Amino acid sequence: MATPEVKSLFDVSVTTKEIIFRDEVDPSEWTADSWTSKVAAQAVQYADIDGLRQTCSLLRELPPLVSDWEVDQLRERLSHAALGSGFIIQGGDCAESFADVKWDIVKRKVDLLFAQSQILEEALQVPTTVIGRIAGQFAKPRSNLFETLPSGEVVHAFRGHNVNSEDPSEREPDHRRLLLGYMYSAAAQRMLRKMPLHLTSHASDGKKVEFSLFTSHEALHLPYEASLTHNRYNLSATTIWLGERTRQLDGAHIEYARGLRNPIGVKLGPTATPEGVVALLNVLADPMAVGKVTLITRLGRGRAQTVLPPIIDAVRRSGHIPLWMSDPCHGNTFSSPSGIKTRRLEEMLAELKETYTVHQACGSFLGGIHIEQTGDNVTECLDETVMGRDDEYLGTCYQSLCDPRLSRDQAIRLIEEFANFVRA
Ligand code: PEP
Ligand code: MN
Repeated sequence: MATPEVKSLFDVSVTTKEIIFRDEVDPSEWTADSWTSKVAAQAVQYADIDGLRQTCSLLRELPPLVSDWEVDQLRERLSHAALGSGFIIQGGDCAESFADVKWDIVKRKVDLLFAQSQILEEALQVPTTVIGRIAGQFAKPRSNLFETLPSGEVVHAFRGHNVNSEDPSEREPDHRRLLLGYMYSAAAQRMLRKMPLHLTSHASDGKKVEFSLFTSHEALHLPYEASLTHNRYNLSATTIWLGERTRQLDGAHIEYARGLRNPIGVKLGPTATPEGVVALLNVLADPMAVGKVTLITRLGRGRAQTVLPPIIDAVRRSGHIPLWMSDPCHGNTFSSPSGIKTRRLEEMLAELKETYTVHQACGSFLGGIHIEQTGDNVTECLDETVMGRDDEYLGTCYQSLCDPRLSRDQAIRLIEEFANFVRA
C-alpha cells in the first residue's frame, strides 16, 4: 500500500513513513544503560543497592506493557498533530496511587479524557488522540527531596508509589516497590484494554473511527525505565516525558531518552531559552523526525507572550518540527492561606488561551494539552464558583498524593471554554 502524502503548512514534501522514522540520531555508544555514566538529577538514594540491581534483573525478564507497534502508531499520530492535522489531549493524576488501580476509578479517568477529546475534535476539526498519564505514573521529582516532620524527624519526601509511601512512617525508598509498580501498571493496562471501545466521528469525513488510549508517564526513575527498554523501545508506556527538573542537556535523563524510538515529551518552564531548547532537540531527534519530540510548555499565566516567540522562532530556524503542547498546570501552582497546594481554573484557562494565541501569531500550532485531572469530583483546584471560601473548599475532598488535580467538572469546563475560545 502506498504511504500517504502528508499535507503540511511547513512544505515538508515527504511521506509519513519518512518523517516519522527518520530518527537515527547516531545511537552509537547508546545503550539502555549508557545514562549511568552521567549525573541523574532527582536520583533515588537506595540503602540496598544490590537489592535494586536484583529487582531490575527481575524487571528485565518481565513481558513488555505495550507493543512496539503501538509506540509507532502514536508516533504517527503525534507527527500529524505537529503538522497541524491532529490534536492531543494528555491527562491524568500528578502521581497515580497503587490504591486507585480499580475499574471504576480508571474508567472515570478514561471517560473524562474521551469526553474532552470529543469537545476538542468538534472545535478544532481535527482528529484528537487521547494519552493518559496512566498505568505507570508512579515516580515523582520533588523540589525538596527531604521533609521535616512535626516531630523534628527528617524523612525522604514522598516520591511516588514506585519509590515510597505517602505515609511518613514508610518513606525509606524500597526497591521492591518497582516490582509492585510494574504489576499495578500491568493491571491498569489490562483494564484499559478491556474497557468498551470508544467510537467517535472523524472530524473531516464523518466516518466512524476507533480511538485507542495511549499510556504515558514521566521517565524519572531511570533504573526502572531502562529495565523495561528493549531494542530501543521503552515498552513501559507508549510515550514518556522528561520533567522540568531532569532535562539537563548533559544529564542522565537526556542520555537515556536520546536513543529511544518512543516519542519523547520535554517539559519547558519559564526559564527555558531558545538556544537551550534547540540544543535539546538536536540531541533528541533528527530534524526530519516530525513530532518525535513534544515540547510541553508550562510557563505560568502571563508569560507566553514574552517567553514563547523567541523559542518558536529558534526552533523553526533549526529545522525541527516538534509537537507543541501546553501544560497550563505546573506554572500556576500556589499555596492557599492554610498552606494547601492548589491552582485556579481561570489561570490555567488564561495560560492555555495565551499559548494558543501566541502560536497562531507566530505561524505555529498548539497541537495538544497536558493536564492534571481526575474523573472524580475532588476539591483540589479552585475556580470562581468557590470564591471567598478557598480553604474550606480545599478541605472538603482533597485526595491528591502530590499536585492538585482538576475535578471532572472543572476539567470539562476548562476544555469547553478553550473550545469556545478557539471557535470564536
Ligand atoms: C508533573 O508533570 O507532574 C511535573 C512534575 O511537571 P514539571 O516537570 O513540569 O514540573
Ligand atoms: Mn504534577
